[in-house]
Amino acid sequence: MKITFLGTCGGRMATMLQVRGTGGWILEMDDEMIHVDPGPGAMVAAKKNDINLKKLTGIMISHAHPDHYTDAEVVLESMTHATHDKRGTLLGNVNSIKGGKDYRPAFSPFHLTLPKKYEVLKPGEKTNIGKIEITATPAKHREEKALGFVFNGSKKIGYTGDGEYYEGQEKYFEGCDYLILNVLRPRGTEWPQHMNVTMAKKLISKVKPKVAIIQHFGMLMIKAPPEKERKWLQKETSVKIIAAKDGMKIDL
Ligand SMILES: [Zn+2]
Repeated sequence: MKITFLGTCGGRMATMLQVRGTGGWILEMDDEMIHVDPGPGAMVAAKKNDINLKKLTGIMISHAHPDHYTDAEVVLESMTHATHDKRGTLLGNVNSIKGGKDYRPAFSPFHLTLPKKYEVLKPGEKTNIGKIEITATPAKHREEKALGFVFNGSKKIGYTGDGEYYEGQEKYFEGCDYLILNVLRPRGTEWPQHMNVTMAKKLISKVKPKVAIIQHFGMLMIKAPPEKERKWLQKETSVKIIAAKDGMKIDL
């Protein structure tokens, strides 16, 4: 059981400059292999890290911003073995699957016929991929229908998705062994509707996971650099903090 990070930066500028990869991350647990937020470069990063995307059993998109979905259709074609096999589960928020006023969907109508099932998730809704129970959590982000996810299987893993800390966010991640946070900014810098390290401290202190993993860094966070912010967070929260790097594998 492990998590592999294919890309650990995010936000428009860092994505545009590809200061780090933006391929999302992959969870392997309980006989499932789930690719979360396959942004630009996911295919290339998977190849580089020797990950066989034909083995995927699920793809999940937290919201309809390109740094979370650009490679999604080709990743879906990989999961369905070049469209030959109807297999796997596709889950996403409404804007990434159906599109919305300001967003076009990440998948064509044809692509939505490829997986065994696809589902649009709303905050609070539960579904499953195999034995893993999945809960969609609300995220306070510019893409107003954005989600986070909780994966409840042999281990409980929380993922905030993008967005700033909001009152009560911790209740969705209660009891998580691992908490993955998209932390765009370091301490002392604000970007409304995105999480910075100060907000991350608040959430981690309340959830008290066994391990918290910070990733999806914007330009200022990369410059901080992440290791400095990681040390501060660990001291402040007394929780083990990992600052993810491209290609990093974490055994669960
Ligand atoms: Zn976003």
